[in-house]
Amino acid sequence: HLPTIYVITPTYARLVQKAELTRLSQTFLHVPQLHWIVVEDSSQRTDLVSHFLEHSGLVFTHLHIPTPQDRKLQEGDPNWLKPRGVEQRNEGLRWLRENIWAGETAEGVVYFADDDNTYSLQLFEEMRWTQRVSVWPVGLVGGMRYEGPVVEQGRVVRFHTGWRPSRPFPLDMAGFATSLRLVLRNPEARFDGNSPMGFVESSFLQGLVTMEELEPKAEMCTKVLVWHTRTEKPKMKREEALQAQGLGSDS
Ligand code: UDP
Ligand code: MN
Repeated sequence: HLPTIYVITPTYARLVQKAELTRLSQTFLHVPQLHWIVVEDSSQRTDLVSHFLEHSGLVFTHLHIPTPQDRKLQEGDPNWLKPRGVEQRNEGLRWLRENIWAGETAEGVVYFADDDNTYSLQLFEEMRWTQRVSVWPVGLVGGMRYEGPVVEQGRVVRFHTGWRPSRPFPLDMAGFATSLRLVLRNPEARFDGNSPMGFVESSFLQGLVTMEELEPKAEMCTKVLVWHTRTEKPKMKREEALQAQGLGSDS
């Protein structure tokens, strides 16, 4: 039988949230044996996400953990200042470690999928048989058309990136998956929210795997199957003007 793909998705309340979750869930509906772990950045599960998941048709686990105020990006901060979704991804890891038995039956893969990226169905079949950590390119990221591992004779030898290629693992969050067994056998592996910018992925992967052990997927890392797309924040100028006149939708 197929190994289960556990997809951990941090998400937070904003105008586009339901649109993002709709797009994502309808991709996942096409993927066999997928278990979606949705982790809200909030002090409680929200009704919006609860209701959404119940009607999604997916196998899911609904978690929540708020990002501490001092770790949150403030209005106007440049987005590179603080990493986002760190506590939520760690909460997903905690759930896996407490709820999946670390025996031989723990066949599965763990993938961190942000709610705004774009995922090809092919990507999930590439990652499904991961032994330790599999890797592939990510499109539209880091100020580049794509970033990703460079493969020679079947091994990852370096990374194609526009910035600090000497980082331990200069990979985007969307550019790797780990076997469930590796996650369960290394209970201390987690994302460090205090890592300098661009080092969050490395903080998790360091100690789990070496560059030589990385398993290149997507035709030896020559194909882009996931894109780091970002959704424009919708402007609510007219909505707010109507509200000010007392003509808003909830008046
Ligand atoms: N996220 C979150 N809380 C926040 C901001 C973001 O949980 O305050 C989630 C978001 O929904 C996404 C992930 O963290 O799944 C990464 O955030 P974002 O896509 O904004 O990061 P970027 O694309 O800029 O790296
Ligand atoms: Mn994003």
